[in-house]
Amino acid sequence: MHAYAEWRLGADNREGVPVAIFQIMCMTCHDMSAAADNDGSPQQTWALDHTGSNPHHRGFKLMTETYWRVEPGRGNPYQEVES
Ligand SMILES: [Zn+2]
Repeated sequence: MHAYAEWRLGADNREGVPVAIFQIMCMTCHDMSAAADNDGSPQQTWALDHTGSNPHHRGFKLMTETYWRVEPGRGNPYQEVES
């Protein structure tokens, strides 16, 4: 957690926010898997299947999105308003 003035930045762990969204891209043809929440294994399967169909496409980029949120810190007047 990084602190700056009276605001704090941290992972957004509110209900319904995914921990991460994963998607993988072929570096040869730029074809992309579907995106999926919280589990990277479908992307690994997609990459193996993609190489199975295109034996020369062997390099992939796994993209991971995570969500962050700034909340009022101790002494920030917004902390009183929201609690
Ligand atoms: Zn490809």
